[in-house]
Amino acid sequence: MNITRQAETLPYDQIPFMHWGIITKYNFTSEKIRYIPRKRWDPLSSAEIRLYDPTLGRLIPIGKRRGHFSYVSPVRGARPEPQTPGKPSKDVFKNIIEGRDYAIFITLDDVRGDNPFSVSPVMLDVKKYRAVTISNRFPAMVRHIDEEIEEKIRKDIEDEYTKIALGINLVTLPTKYYETLSEIPANDLSAIIKSMNVSIDYCVEEARKRGIDLAPVYPFFNIGFMAGGSQPRLHSQVYIDLNMDGHGAFMENLLQAFEEKYSSGYCYLCTSRHDDRIVYENETWMVWVTSSPRRNFHLRLTTKRHVERITNLGEKEINDLAKTLIISSQALDRLGVTRDRNILFYSNPFGYSSFFHIFVDLIPFERIGGIENLDSCRVSRYSPEDVAMELRNIIEKSL
Ligand SMILES: [Zn+2]
Repeated sequence: MNITRQAETLPYDQIPFMHWGIITKYNFTSEKIRYIPRKRWDPLSSAEIRLYDPTLGRLIPIGKRRGHFSYVSPVRGARPEPQTPGKPSKDVFKNIIEGRDYAIFITLDDVRGDNPFSVSPVMLDVKKYRAVTISNRFPAMVRHIDEEIEEKIRKDIEDEYTKIALGINLVTLPTKYYETLSEIPANDLSAIIKSMNVSIDYCVEEARKRGIDLAPVYPFFNIGFMAGGSQPRLHSQVYIDLNMDGHGAFMENLLQAFEEKYSSGYCYLCTSRHDDRIVYENETWMVWVTSSPRRNFHLRLTTKRHVERITNLGEKEINDLAKTLIISSQALDRLGVTRDRNILFYSNPFGYSSFFHIFVDLIPFERIGGIENLDSCRVSRYSPEDVAMELRNIIEKSL
């Protein structure tokens, strides 16, 4: 669907610097060089990925890294400020949905809209859809740079550990107003997941046309101010990293863990039954309390079928995922767990041939201390078996 033809468009030369990830010869000046989003690898906690070459009999660097990196993107600071400390700011999505503010619509429900690399924000009334996916107005990565200024910028900021952060940040929102997974109806949550998935496929396909065939994709929800939610309306986000230079430490750990099990001939998520830590299951999904929680009350969800990428979920799996998230969220509420939560979707990066089985981590917000910052580690206060028993009882009573 070509949207720009049917709606009022913001002229290219009037797009402010880095809005929607757009840098042009009109909005860039040399003083803005330090505001160019950078992807910066920590030289102390990242290293080159080396793969074994059987013909040479040794490990060969493949020009990509793994470990800690930061997206340094000062435009993120231009997001609307909260009016009450400790609360998200007012709902900016309302004006977008009603066609009174500019947006770039990548999908309308599960139908493709404008190209993920579009540089034409439009005003469009989208109330008739359940969920829409837009390009983030204040992203962590650049989506478009005019060719005539790109090389100079590259020369000025890039080095062994630093490059212009290239990628797409998506936001998927329901057109009706909800704040948490406990209050949204299942069909609206399904619509969010479908819209998000279609937009991911669209972005990956368009990136491939531009020669970018490796793309770690990170979908998530930040729910509540303390969990990083700057907007009160429930919405999901996706970070699509198009730098083709590797992935973070946690993703590396996952790939290695899956590989370890695979070389022993099995998939951990296809075979593990999680003993007495199961909280809820239906035909296609199960939820359990992890035995090595990243936060107290950390729940993990996975599909019963071996699914490698979130975009490979079928219709029933998406609908069941929506129900499973809602039931889990409501059960945590009844247990008195904080409502500020992150929902993290782990999926095989596009273009990787790694062995992978998708899963979702539901992580309530918590203050963390030194040891949790020193390493990938957590001191947990509760017995996972007790938490699972309590959640099971709550869910059994409510179903
Ligand atoms: Zn599996």
